Amino acid sequence: MTLKGKTALVTGSTSGIGLGIAHGLAAAGANVILNGFGDVQAVLAELAAHGTKVGHHPADVSQPAQIEAMFAYARAEFGAVDILVNNAGIQHVAAVEDFPVERWDAIMAINLSSVFHATRLALPGMREHGWGRIINIASVHGLVGSTGKAAYVAAKHGVIGLTKVVGLETAKSQITCNAICPGWVLTPLVQKQIDDRAAKGVDLQQAREDLLAEKQPSLEFVTPEQLGELVLFLCSEAGSQVRGAAWNMDGGWLAQ
Ligand code: NAD
Repeated sequence: MTLKGKTALVTGSTSGIGLGIAHGLAAAGANVILNGFGDVQAVLAELAAHGTKVGHHPADVSQPAQIEAMFAYARAEFGAVDILVNNAGIQHVAAVEDFPVERWDAIMAINLSSVFHATRLALPGMREHGWGRIINIASVHGLVGSTGKAAYVAAKHGVIGLTKVVGLETAKSQITCNAICPGWVLTPLVQKQIDDRAAKGVDLQQAREDLLAEKQPSLEFVTPEQLGELVLFLCSEAGSQVRGAAWNMDGGWLAQ
């Protein structure tokens, strides 16, 4: 499959899953706009090695006005956003009664509201061009709960609801909207949870094994590259009747 001539915008793509997906899309020929924080120059240089046009916009996706600025940049520099991957996300672990209100608001803004804003801004251009793919990186936590993750689980369930509505509203077009629901992927977001376990007195290797054993029957992490391949499938002609789906890739987590 080639995505030559298409432009993909991947939010939260300077590390982890988003970066893996960005590499998959660029390797398939797409121009790619990165978004997120950190050492952008190094990441851009790596991505440019695929030979397609790459760019970066530093929007903080908790701010709707910055998402609007990112789409203005995309239109000016790339002409369109044909593939939108809503991936940016953060985590905070605490019991509901101890959950900091500011963390709740941040998780809702970054993990859920940004998906709404980017989607509403992407759709007019996709309708104009008669083709589009919106892929929301939700989580198994969009389908089941876990203790300590009230805001994350609520936001991810919301993403799956939004995915269904957009999937229906675009059903008679060549635009599709789907969610991908990863299990554990070893990224900075999950490493922090492993470090927090290790801080309670087990070694890092044990903390990693315990984390997997609690939820993921394969006892192996899903990789950003594997998720990138699923994104490519959803972008392909073969994926064109997958609509409004929540597709898990989770080492068996949800089969239990
Ligand atoms: P990560 O921490 O490695 O990467 C997060 C990315 O989002 C980074 O590029 C960061 O700069 C960016 N980001 C954070 N806040 C932002 C903001 N306000 N505006 C713009 N960018 C911002 O995390 P990850 O594990 O790769 O997670 C990516 C997505 O996958 C998230 O939505 C997460 O919920 C989801 N997910 C992760 C796992 C996992 O096990 N790692 C499992 C299921 C779902």
